[in-house]
Amino acid sequence: AHIAALPDAPPMLQVEALCRSFADTPAVHDVSFSVPKGAVTCLLGPSGCGKSTTLRMIAGIEQPDSGSVRIDGKIMSDATTFLPPERRCIGLVFQDFALFPHLDVAANIGFGLRGKIAPRRIDELLERVGLSGYGAKFPHELSGGEQQRIALIRALAPRPCLMLMDEPFSSLDHRLRDGVRDATLDLLRDSGTTVLMVTHDPEEAMLMGDRIAVMRRGRLIQEGRPHELYDRPVDRGVAAFFSDLNRLEGRVSQGSIATPLGRFPAPGLPDGSCAEVVIRPQHLTPTAHGGALARVTRARYLGRESLIELHLDGTGLALKARVPGLLLPEPGSSIRIGADPEFALILPCGD
Ligand code: ATP
Repeated sequence: AHIAALPDAPPMLQVEALCRSFADTPAVHDVSFSVPKGAVTCLLGPSGCGKSTTLRMIAGIEQPDSGSVRIDGKIMSDATTFLPPERRCIGLVFQDFALFPHLDVAANIGFGLRGKIAPRRIDELLERVGLSGYGAKFPHELSGGEQQRIALIRALAPRPCLMLMDEPFSSLDHRLRDGVRDATLDLLRDSGTTVLMVTHDPEEAMLMGDRIAVMRRGRLIQEGRPHELYDRPVDRGVAAFFSDLNRLEGRVSQGSIATPLGRFPAPGLPDGSCAEVVIRPQHLTPTAHGGALARVTRARYLGRESLIELHLDGTGLALKARVPGLLLPEPGSSIRIGADPEFALILPCGD
């Protein structure tokens, strides 16, 4: 257990009502969230949703049209104040690592401290990431993974209050990525660093984030712990980020929705309203009784699990189920399929 995810930790970063347009097109609109001290928060969203612009405004590289940014309780940017990046107590790591090509590794690491760093501390940092003896090498002599580690310790060397990372793993070969993510997380945790990391990859956000903030079309849609977003998404878009979805539409009647897979409780939704029962593929399970009869259209064995595609009899509805690996029905055969209402998400129609 680490202190990082304590919900009542005081925020290191507070962003309020941040807005920024480019040529009258809003890139970031009314974004507010905070990042608790010592935690890793991932800013997640599809390409073009405004993640990088948000991060750049927090860094002081981009000027907001309105809104405020506080770091460690101090105003960095609002209607009257705009501090440059070097006065914000931040560390920055970019996708391309942005090492200075004309400086050797030691000079790169010392850069943020204007050279005022003990050679012993540089050696310690290099040793910490398994690159002892690399101080005199130049960036072009390093592999992508090595450059990433240097960029990380360069940003950590001045002991920033807040580390801002923009897609820090996306330029790495995918075979390297898992190891680099783990090592990065260890280093960030050991140093107690507060992190805001931009990613478009939901799995990466789950792996790295104590908290995740989801953005879409310039807006912040939902913020919370990974399991909160997964189990209680505010809308279908957030739910669909984390897996394929099966969707069964119906009308609410007497507090529940009738679907071909049975009735699902829909507390709080008005009678007669349209609602959607959303079920993740791993929550559809073959049953001996109950549920509904479905024809298997495709069945693929993936080792630990199998992916089954089904057509619900008499509805034309296509479903996907993920089942334990050895449960592999023949295509063309019929099986009964059911869903535990406990795992179903009930959402209003049409978002
Ligand atoms: P990606 O993951 O692809 O970088 P993103 O979520 O980080 O996407 P942003 O880079 O913040 O998104 O861009 C948000 C929107 O603002 C996009 O439509 C983009 O084209 C636009 N935009 C960003 N920077 C500028 C700029 N300097 N001038 C004009 N438009 C910009």
